[in-house]
Amino acid sequence: MSYAPGARHSVIPSTALGADERALVAEFVDERIRPIATELDETERFPAEIFAEMGKIGLFGVTVPDDAGGVGGTALDYLFVMESLSYGYASIADQCGLVEILGSLLNLYGTPAQRERYLAPLLSAEKLGAYALTEPGSGSDLGSITTRATRTAEGWQLRGEKIYIHNAPVADFAVVLAVTDPELGKRGGISVFIVDVDQPGVSRAYHEHKMGQRASQVGGLVFDDVILSPDALLGEEGKAFGYMMKVLAKGRLGIAGLSLGISRAALDCAVRQSLDRSQFGKPIADNQAISFSLATIATELRAATALCVTAAQAIDAGADDAEMLCSMAKLTASENCVRHTDAALQVFGGNGFIRGYEIERLYRDARITKIYEGTSEMQRLIISRALLKGAQA
Ligand SMILES: Cc1cc2nc3c(=O)[nH]c(=O)nc-3n(C[C@H](O)[C@H](O)[C@H](O)COP(=O)(O)OP(=O)(O)OC[C@H]3O[C@@H](n4cnc5c(N)ncnc54)[C@H](O)[C@@H]3O)c2cc1C
Repeated sequence: MSYAPGARHSVIPSTALGADERALVAEFVDERIRPIATELDETERFPAEIFAEMGKIGLFGVTVPDDAGGVGGTALDYLFVMESLSYGYASIADQCGLVEILGSLLNLYGTPAQRERYLAPLLSAEKLGAYALTEPGSGSDLGSITTRATRTAEGWQLRGEKIYIHNAPVADFAVVLAVTDPELGKRGGISVFIVDVDQPGVSRAYHEHKMGQRASQVGGLVFDDVILSPDALLGEEGKAFGYMMKVLAKGRLGIAGLSLGISRAALDCAVRQSLDRSQFGKPIADNQAISFSLATIATELRAATALCVTAAQAIDAGADDAEMLCSMAKLTASENCVRHTDAALQVFGGNGFIRGYEIERLYRDARITKIYEGTSEMQRLIISRALLKGAQA
């Protein structure tokens, strides 16, 4: 399949999703997401109606088994869905990625009661969740978090602050990383809790206004001696780092897919513009400087897509190098995406700098992909550690 404008379909293959389901995703992107992307960016509106539709047609919880309310697909299917949604608008894909991580955690480690209370409504978009790890003093170094959960006669008492949390301004519940044993720290002293955001002691701190992906609601959460019952603990005490490792590779794959979708949209914009815009009496595409730039984006995009597919297949196969491959996929696709949107914008000349052009939004939406879900530097750290460990073995 080509990347020609109008060929609004992903080249990523799928395993569990059939042709009809793939067509449904493409149609949803074309008819429901793309027409409102500019409006969502300008108003920073939370598109609750789109998420409700996604919950109904089954676009949340792609890898969550169908008997748990998910799609029952593979990591490859998830990559396909993320890339396709992001081609429409990255903030929509972002919500899908968030639900995937929360859904995977709840499915893997939740009790039947927790799954009934949180997982089912999360997948149907009746409840919104947040994944709260980052703190003012702890971003890349999650082992240094200070949010503290202390055992009490009733259960737990939670105190601390989380920042830059996706969905914090709108979430019904948050999955929160907290220290339960300061002496053990990240070696068995950090646990995960499910916290209802409307309960006493929890407050939404502020609502961030961002450079891009502006319809994604991001803000802070403050826990002021929140009383939690014993069943707020997700899984076993002290196991949080192991749990995160289980889902973070998939999270990174998701952001890799989201980055591919932005690159594909940028390439389509640039191809169309290069044919529509004439200077010196001919379409600007007739200049090799322009057509070669398009050729470079298309080639790098195909290469990154192939790497992402390999990473997804490694997750599905339970391969030892899946984590490293997902970091490679995220690093490559996100760094490409930032360069691709820049190169595509250049094809637009001054128009590319003007609000209302899709490429101007894509350029802004791309930038965060190198930062969230682990910065590029953190991906290089994971890759180099795996490489050197392998060489020493
Ligand atoms: C829009 C948005 C949405 C987000 N959503 C969520 C969310 O839903 N939940 C959540 O918990 N968090 C979320 N985050 C937080 C995000 O994951 C962090 O911003 C990210 O992990 C980086 O942490 P930091 O900002 O504290 O940067 P820092 O960790 O302070 O890093 C600053 C710089 O130093 C570099 N650096 C740090 N340590 C090293 C090292 N050892 N070697 C080399 N370089 C290093 C980093 O790569 C970076 O370039 C979100 C952030 C944003 C902006």
